[in-house]
Amino acid sequence: MLFSDLNLNASLLKAVQEEGYTTPTPVQEKAIPFILQGRDMLAGAQTGTGKTAGFTLPILELLSAKPRNKAKPALRVLILTPTRELAAQVGESVQTYGKYLPFKSAVIFGGVGIHPQIQTLKNGVDILVATPGRLLDHVSQGTINLKEIDTFVLDEADRMLDMGFIKDIRKVIALLPSKRQNLLFSATYSDEIKKLCESILKNPAVVEV
Ligand code: AMP
Repeated sequence: MLFSDLNLNASLLKAVQEEGYTTPTPVQEKAIPFILQGRDMLAGAQTGTGKTAGFTLPILELLSAKPRNKAKPALRVLILTPTRELAAQVGESVQTYGKYLPFKSAVIFGGVGIHPQIQTLKNGVDILVATPGRLLDHVSQGTINLKEIDTFVLDEADRMLDMGFIKDIRKVIALLPSKRQNLLFSATYSDEIKKLCESILKNPAVVEV
């Protein structure tokens, strides 16, 4: 299979080509069509499998097909990650694959000053990559509004649980609109993850690699 078989627009294909990718990885081949259909998804994929492009590319494609307020875009995609390193990495991917598209993204994590983040958010972002604690700080300060989120990604959900983020995750989910697409990535599949999936995902496509 080729990237051009995946129903991604020319801007995305160009960015992918410039990264030097020739063919989609297995998780990309399987996940991208389900995500483009608007399905919820549970994907069992480790780091190194290409999972980040596997959700970033179709999310950018879906956003491209929707109307957008250029002056002040609404926040429509929320990607939660367990660590700041992963948040930064996912943020980089969003920038790289979206470089020929008009969307704005931001990366929000704790341990650094909150004011520059507030400034970035004020200008409006379409896609936010965040760690749970700092995200909730912003929500309580009124600097992030989650009411227009239509795609929610939980990346490395197993690590999130290991790090004790379950309460924060539940708080975030309670703030999201009920009608949304949910994508959950986890390298392992414990009873706890199963419970989380059951509470978040509706009729999910299941992708294993
Ligand atoms: P990830 O599993 O998302 O952390 O990605 C692992 C690495 O694979 C990253 O450095 C990506 O740039 C790279 N990558 C992602 N998709 C592809 C692809 N289709 N072909 C070659 N490399 C890729």
